[in-house]
Amino acid sequence: MEFSRPLSHLVGIGPTIAKRLELLGLFTVEDLVHHYPFRYDDFSKSTQLNEVKVGEVVTLTGEIWSIKNVYTRSRKTLTQAIFNDGTSSLELVWFNQSWLAKNLPAGSRVQISGKVSRKGSKLSILQPTWEKLAGVLLHTGRLVPIYPETFGINSKWLRQKINYLFPLIESEIIDPLSSHLSADFLDLTSALQQIHFPDNFATLNKAKKRLSFDELFDIQLATQYQRLTWQKKTVVNPWKIFGKKLTEFIHNLPFQLTNAQQRVIKEIVEDLQKSTPMNRLVQGEVGSGKTVVAAVIIYLAHLNGFKTLLMTPTEILAFQHYATLSKLLKPLGINVTIYTGSKKEREGDIVVGTHALLSDKLQADNIGLVIVDEQQRFGVEQRTKLRNRSSSPHFLTMTATPIPRTVALTLYGDLDLSIIDELPKGRKIVQTHFVPSKKRLDAYKFIADHLKVGEQVYVVTPLIEASETNQSAKAVKVEFEKLKKILPQFNLGLLHGKLKSADKQQALDNFKSKKTHLLVSTSVVEVGVDVPNATIMVIEGSERFGLAQLHQLRGRVGRAGIQSFCLLFTESEEPQLVSRIKNLETIHDGLKLAEIDLQIRGSGEIYGIRQSGRWNLKIADLSDKELAEQSKILAVKILAESPNLDKYPQLKAKLSSGLLIIAPD
Ligand code: ADP
Ligand code: MG
Repeated sequence: MEFSRPLSHLVGIGPTIAKRLELLGLFTVEDLVHHYPFRYDDFSKSTQLNEVKVGEVVTLTGEIWSIKNVYTRSRKTLTQAIFNDGTSSLELVWFNQSWLAKNLPAGSRVQISGKVSRKGSKLSILQPTWEKLAGVLLHTGRLVPIYPETFGINSKWLRQKINYLFPLIESEIIDPLSSHLSADFLDLTSALQQIHFPDNFATLNKAKKRLSFDELFDIQLATQYQRLTWQKKTVVNPWKIFGKKLTEFIHNLPFQLTNAQQRVIKEIVEDLQKSTPMNRLVQGEVGSGKTVVAAVIIYLAHLNGFKTLLMTPTEILAFQHYATLSKLLKPLGINVTIYTGSKKEREGDIVVGTHALLSDKLQADNIGLVIVDEQQRFGVEQRTKLRNRSSSPHFLTMTATPIPRTVALTLYGDLDLSIIDELPKGRKIVQTHFVPSKKRLDAYKFIADHLKVGEQVYVVTPLIEASETNQSAKAVKVEFEKLKKILPQFNLGLLHGKLKSADKQQALDNFKSKKTHLLVSTSVVEVGVDVPNATIMVIEGSERFGLAQLHQLRGRVGRAGIQSFCLLFTESEEPQLVSRIKNLETIHDGLKLAEIDLQIRGSGEIYGIRQSGRWNLKIADLSDKELAEQSKILAVKILAESPNLDKYPQLKAKLSSGLLIIAPD
């Protein structure tokens, strides 16, 4: 048996099952071994029936005395069995598993686990987990792993397969880190064995720690390797600073830069004077003013005789940046152009565009600066491809995603980090209210009152899927029609990802120029759209969004010093959901909200790691500072000892096979 063998080659796994396993991301034996449980049922308490109490979760060993199927009026099947363990009897009940009556005939010796309940004067267990007493016990009487499942592939199936495969591949597990790790860490084989079939909670935690370490180490190794590679590059000429001209430009801006903006510009300018190309991430809350920072640097590129490419995730944003930068830079004789799917202008000094910029058709020479806005929306491959449009340009990425510093240092260990941690003066906090359904009409009146005085409103419809679909287009149209009836005296606009790009632009232009007063939109407005006169953000089905994402949406209002509001509607008023949403009423710090999201939903969902596919995190918690630090130290040490990883063939293979999705250089 080899680790890399496709699961479809195993006995008992036909094409149908193989397809289902693929849905879980499982292609090879190795994938299956790394398919970790997400929780465990504690069935480790073995006891006897004459000692059990109602409400306890127990494991019992005994015999099926009788078993039969009963059909209810609602056409469900109940399978009822009498189980006896030598001390007493109780009833077992399963729903819709009529095949059990044949599978567990009277006389079967079984072990069962489950929660004891009372049925009249008798004890019973509903839906017990069971297994016949033969060989190793996997499903009862221990900490029993529960896995991510899919139709036709349940945890019982996964347990059996993993238990069968493990001894066959055990000898192939190589632990390249073993000699570097202290006794605190389990060896890799034990960790993998214990994560599936833990002896107890203590060893389970050790297994989690070891496997988490490995995941974080993989990231650290890839990013540190990347950083070293990057540091070997040189730029043709370090840039000159043009201090006087820059100061003048900054002085002529319509506002004064915040201290944070100034600091970040300084950090960038320092990079640009070096002979290695810059590779920096600017992180700043929505509305913190990243665009103008970019404008200053673009101007500097121009003064140094270089062109700039600026890539945005959406066409709307590209046009918006195009407009902003034109206003700031055209008076200085800089030719700003746009390059998107729908509008392709001849090469300019600065080309603003979407991923269309990646096309070979765009003539691009003498590029000295490459900027990616809202970088979390792009995959590494896209960012790298853009950067590689020129031999070694300075590279600047920007994000509004609030990522705690430790997490950012791990995830983006290959980048230097600058944080704009201050909003421009005069920004008022966006007053945020959860609106229960009984107050919906009041909310519409409130909206109408604000529209009457010339303010503008966004209404965002619920998130249906991660990306824009026909379904979300339909939902937003329904909302549009509904609101037209509720607010007939106002002009409404409609915006969603499925519109033709000219129509999208039209919808946004109409809103900006106040031809429309209220814009009904999917969450496409989330990234970067800037309409200062908008003062109310209404979000429907807000429980479907992450808190950090809601915060981004709410950042679309409150941009011009006018008191602004965010009204959060939900589809369900379940207390747990509502209390999560209500965090937005009191917390106005994107980072804090991201941390709450982190606790509730786990790091993978929050930072878009799973979608971006940059890292394959299954078990590690990115906010675990200690492990992050330890794994970084080891990665740096290993790369110092063996820069090309020749001493570590497994690590090298992993790195170059792209398993650690790393940008090729
Ligand atoms: P983001 O960081 O979310 O990309 P933008 O760059 O779109 O933010 O800026 C948001 C708004 O704030 C814009 O209208 C911009 O003109 C304005 N702005 C940027 N910096 C300042 C500042 N220092 N003072 C006042 N307004 C500013
Ligand atoms: Mg922006």
